Amino acid sequence: MNKNKFYSLKINDIARITSDSVMLTFEIPNALTSTFSYKAGQYLTLKTTINGEEIRRSYSLCTAPSENKWSVLIKKVNGGLFSTFANEQLKPGDFIDVMPPSGNFTLDKYNDSKHFLFFAAGSGITPIIAQIKDLLMHHAQSNITLFFGNKNFSSIIFREEIEALKNKYLGRFSVHHIFTKEKIGIDLLYGRIDKAKCVALGQSLFNPNDMDACMICGPNEMIFDIKDGLVSLGFDPKISILNYSTQMD
Ligand SMILES: Cc1cc2nc3c(=O)[nH]c(=O)nc-3n(C[C@H](O)[C@H](O)[C@H](O)COP(=O)(O)OP(=O)(O)OC[C@H]3O[C@@H](n4cnc5c(N)ncnc54)[C@H](O)[C@@H]3O)c2cc1C
Repeated sequence: MNKNKFYSLKINDIARITSDSVMLTFEIPNALTSTFSYKAGQYLTLKTTINGEEIRRSYSLCTAPSENKWSVLIKKVNGGLFSTFANEQLKPGDFIDVMPPSGNFTLDKYNDSKHFLFFAAGSGITPIIAQIKDLLMHHAQSNITLFFGNKNFSSIIFREEIEALKNKYLGRFSVHHIFTKEKIGIDLLYGRIDKAKCVALGQSLFNPNDMDACMICGPNEMIFDIKDGLVSLGFDPKISILNYSTQMD
């Protein structure tokens, strides 16, 4: 078993999730299931050659390990080489080089935590939805609040899956969508998730004193704004962050 080499994997399925994102599901041969075993929040590295150039990109698994499924969501970035190729050219049945799962953005250090606060923006939802599913399915004592920032309603990645989880785990999972380009309902749920917004959310939609852990996945600026906001709310939970270092909304 070698976790640092690439394996050629078949893409079993490609599903369009929003107008600018696709979800790829890989077929993992039985002989490779332990090499590709993963924790919620880890990512795969994909490798291909485009216009003679070898490129490698990381994509978080959006499935939970117990689903026995390996899927990644790739959002098309303007002018982006790999994400455009994946959205426009890959087909089911194609093979692609994939490095086994890695990454430290996992729930490992939260074994004793009960109340989880999650913030995601755009495609930053991918590792977060994997973790939320994992907690809901396997940690019956966990309670989850998710704030999810997007441009508008139609750009919400995994909207239906999130809604279904919310309905299935009523009382344990609450979600608040925040839009930058569409105003629905209260002002609080409109605009970018910056420090002031985080503070305002903590004064009305979540109780900082109740939270034990916080996971954030999104652009750099949002991550640091949220951390600042949480600190000024007097909240010092264990915080984990994943920065994609690319524009994600
Ligand atoms: C740990 C991790 C997990 C990730 N998980 C996900 C995920 O689950 N889903 C997801 O969609 N993304 C994820 N990403 C981001 C992903 O890896 C890619 O960065 C993203 O898809 C863009 O890749 P690309 O090849 O399409 O764009 P690139 O070709 O790398 O371009 C990125 C941006 O830079 C601009 N650019 C490129 N070259 C230049 C240049 N020479 N000068 C100026 N600007 C330039 C492009 O126009 C584009 O806007 C993750 C990243 C990390 C690090």
